[in-house]
Amino acid sequence: MALRPIRLIGDDVLRKKAKKVERVNDFIRTLLDDMADTMYKHDGVGLAGNQIGVLKRVIVVDDGAGLLQLVNPVITEQSGSQTGTEGCLSLPDIYGDVERYDKITVKALDHRGIKVKIEAEGYLARILQHEIDHLEGKVFIDTASNIHEEKAASSEEIAEDKESNEEAVKEKLLSNPID
Ligand code: ZN
Repeated sequence: MALRPIRLIGDDVLRKKAKKVERVNDFIRTLLDDMADTMYKHDGVGLAGNQIGVLKRVIVVDDGAGLLQLVNPVITEQSGSQTGTEGCLSLPDIYGDVERYDKITVKALDHRGIKVKIEAEGYLARILQHEIDHLEGKVFIDTASNIHEEKAASSEEIAEDKESNEEAVKEKLLSNPID
């Protein structure tokens, strides 16, 4: 098990386009496993290569139904729309509402380099779109509305009024960017 440091908003790597993986080899498999370890460690539901500073088209996703490790994911079909609240491990404690397709089909390679097709809807479709956006250098706040900050429930006392609460969040972001 190996954890990789998560890059935070402001880091240029989050704004760059990731490159296609030419061959799914042991290097890529180790990368995917490290990404899964890192995602689970931080209670995330998805992680893209850019977020650990690796500009390769790799994502890991787990909506609660099991781990997906995808290489070169491409959305080939999409329909409907859904709006829901999103967060991101690269933007700790920041949330916003994002409109996404409700149903998508994703084609990718799995960790063995075998072609897979995933038909996803609802939450899983949302996570996949969020992660594939990362590979394009996009972050959810680019299109989100109602962006707000929230303190993690586990952190110290909640301030009594909203203003000082926001200050506390900013301090926490500065002093302790990744849990
Ligand atoms: Zn994200």
